[in-house]
Amino acid sequence: MTDSRTPLPPDLQPETLAVRAGIDRSHHGEHSEGLFLTSSFVFPNAHEAAERFQGRTPGNVYSRFTNPTVTAFEERLAAMEGAEMCVATASGMAAILSMCMGMLKSGDHIVSSGSIFGSTVNLFAKWLTRFGIETTFVAGQDPAAWRAAMRPATRLVYLETPSNPMTEVFDIGAIAQVAHEGGALLAVDNCFCTPALQKPLELGADLIIHSATKYLDGQGRVLGGAVLGPKALLHDTVYQFLRTAGPSMSAFNAWVVLKGLETLKVRVDAQSANALAVSRWLEAHPAVERVWYPGLPSHPQHALAMRQQRSGGAIVSFEVKGGRETAWRVIDHTQVCSITANLGDTKTTITHPATTTHGRISADERAAAGITEGLIRLAVGLESPQDLITDLGRGMR
Ligand SMILES: *Cc1c(COP(=O)(O)O)cnc(C)c1O
Repeated sequence: MTDSRTPLPPDLQPETLAVRAGIDRSHHGEHSEGLFLTSSFVFPNAHEAAERFQGRTPGNVYSRFTNPTVTAFEERLAAMEGAEMCVATASGMAAILSMCMGMLKSGDHIVSSGSIFGSTVNLFAKWLTRFGIETTFVAGQDPAAWRAAMRPATRLVYLETPSNPMTEVFDIGAIAQVAHEGGALLAVDNCFCTPALQKPLELGADLIIHSATKYLDGQGRVLGGAVLGPKALLHDTVYQFLRTAGPSMSAFNAWVVLKGLETLKVRVDAQSANALAVSRWLEAHPAVERVWYPGLPSHPQHALAMRQQRSGGAIVSFEVKGGRETAWRVIDHTQVCSITANLGDTKTTITHPATTTHGRISADERAAAGITEGLIRLAVGLESPQDLITDLGRGMR
């Protein structure tokens, strides 16, 4: 997994690791990372096959749990997050499932932020309960509320920061302390910030979840995910679960995302700068009631965000005056933005959360989460910010 076989000098900067970490050249001497599209690997003799199967000698066996391209992706992302080990998975949801299946058992309890990805809520509230694992969802970022939700059986504390779509920022260090006092581990879904903007392990988290489908790929091509953390936590649990059960990342997808990591910081920095420009314009527009963007001083957790993140990120939510009618008009008048729920793409996407991503929760739950009928979520891409501003202005009066 993360034992690199091509030694790099120590103490390299993140920009260097993003293009250099994880390379293990074949005898062909290829410069770009090789794509190993093969399900299995051959052994020189029966003895060596037996040794590899038993894990007594290192090397590839079968691509469900060992593939050189997937290993290159794992080593590179681990280097970028400052993690000892990375387990790549088929999707972000497969990463969260593998973490839970690998580390939890019947009778265990999860404390989770209520402001997390919808499918994660479903996984915790609907599927894990069938196996005797209960979840308490916490509203808001006050660590006291998190402490109150802890039980003796709590094994895992889970959050996303900034949250979707309200960009609420959670104090990773403070919530890690609550988790550790209660003998639990903190897992942070670092999908929105990526290691380019935020390093959860340095801030006190134990585990990181990624949906590689988003910024890590960055161009909306493939699905992927990852669980990162200490080898002592992951090897006998999440990795062994993946080896047995198979929610593995394909070599092709690993190759695409591996190349995506090389440009991650350049893309995320540029997309964040565009998001800041767009959110400043939105905040000054008379048709806009309110803007939620962690990079604006008006954001309720702006100071925390600036301590924890290198910038505000590329997700902006704003509420227009006039509810659903105005929100839909603004969305329908855009000619550049893509009307889609995905995010993390170089192409700007625009969403009406109340009727799409958050349409299946009750009106009361939506109101409690601040998701009004006038709310629009933007995932800002790499287009010219001036073109985006013009595009958003088309339907505003
Ligand atoms: C998309 C997303 C996921 C799930 O990832 P998939 O790759 O779609 O399975 C998890 N968490 C967050 C924050 C996401 O945005």
